[in-house]
Formats: sequence, structure tokens, C-alpha cells
Amino acid sequence: MTIAICPGSFDPVTNGHLDIIQRAAEIFDQVIVAVGHNPGKTPLFTVEERMALLERVIGEARLTNVRVDHFHGLQVEYARAQKAQVIVKGLRALSDFEYEFQMALTNKKLAPEIETVFMMTANEYSFLSSSMVKEIVLFGGNPDGLVPPVVLTALHEKMEKRGRING
Ligand code: ADP
Repeated sequence: MTIAICPGSFDPVTNGHLDIIQRAAEIFDQVIVAVGHNPGKTPLFTVEERMALLERVIGEARLTNVRVDHFHGLQVEYARAQKAQVIVKGLRALSDFEYEFQMALTNKKLAPEIETVFMMTANEYSFLSSSMVKEIVLFGGNPDGLVPPVVLTALHEKMEKRGRING
């Protein structure tokens, strides 16, 4: 049985992420979407909130071989602990390539038995990132079609709450 992990921040999950998760679910027996705790980033959503949104979206897409988890530390250590053979990454623009290339080679050195597999982004999501979506909502725009409806609602609630705290 092939187990793959899809690691990331997912702050919050976008249709670009979902596209990669769906495609991974068609290829691998089991997919674990793993939300990383990144001490270097200040996320909008807590890890629990990000996991809950992923679970909703994955449930709605009826991806029965996908589950959601979170991890601290190195992706390869987490992959090993889950007995995963593959790490799946999405590639958007050239700008993703250099970082992902470096990361894949480093991970190969740390855990030669784990393979990193890259999937090219879908054309319509090639420009899409979580930070872009957050900016659109922050400035009053509508990221329709870029995130699942449940995520859009969560974004509006979060921004409203922040607005109340700040103003
Ligand atoms: P970001 O914060 O940059 O949106 P994440 O760390 O949450 O990204 O990304 C998790 C994984 O999903 C990474 O492998 C990333 O390359 C991939 N990914 C993110 N957005 C897209 C997209 N629009 N198309 C394809 N892959 C994507």
C-alpha cells in the first residue's frame, strides 16, 4: 500500500490545494494532508481551524482515502512515522521551483527511502496562494472560485473578528 503525505500550511486551504489533494488521492492508496506547525510564520487560522476546514472540504469532495493530521518538525520524520513512501508537492510558478528543489534534495539526503513527487498546478490555479486569498478578502474583494464556500465564510468571520479587535 502506498501512503503519501501532502504537507503545507493550508492557511487556509484553497482550490489549488484541493486540486493537488484530489489528484494525489487518485494515484495513492492513502493520502495524509499534514498541517505543519511553523514557528516562523504568523498564521491567520490556528492549526485546529485549518484542520477543521480541510476536513470539511475533503468530506464535501468525498475523498474517502484522505485524512487530515498535523505535525511538528521535519516533513521526512513525520513521513517516516506515518510509514509514508511519498511526499506530494504542488508546483506553481518558476518561483516555487528553486525552494522545492532544494527541499527535495535535502529530504532525499535525510531520508533516501522517501520520494518527493511534484504535480504541476492546474492552469486556473497557477497564480493562487493562501496569502493572495487573504489579501483579496482583507481589501474587500471576492475570491469566488478560488476557495471552497466554507473557507470563504471562515475568512469573512475571521476578518470581521479581527476588525472588531483592531477597531
Ligand atoms: P501556500 O501558503 O504557498 O499557499 P502551502 O504551504 O499551504 O502553500 O502549500 C502546501 C502545498 O500545496 C505545497 O506543495 C504548495 O506548493 C502546494 N500549493 C499551494 N497552492 C497551490 C496551487 N495554487 N496550485 C498547486 N499547488 C499549490
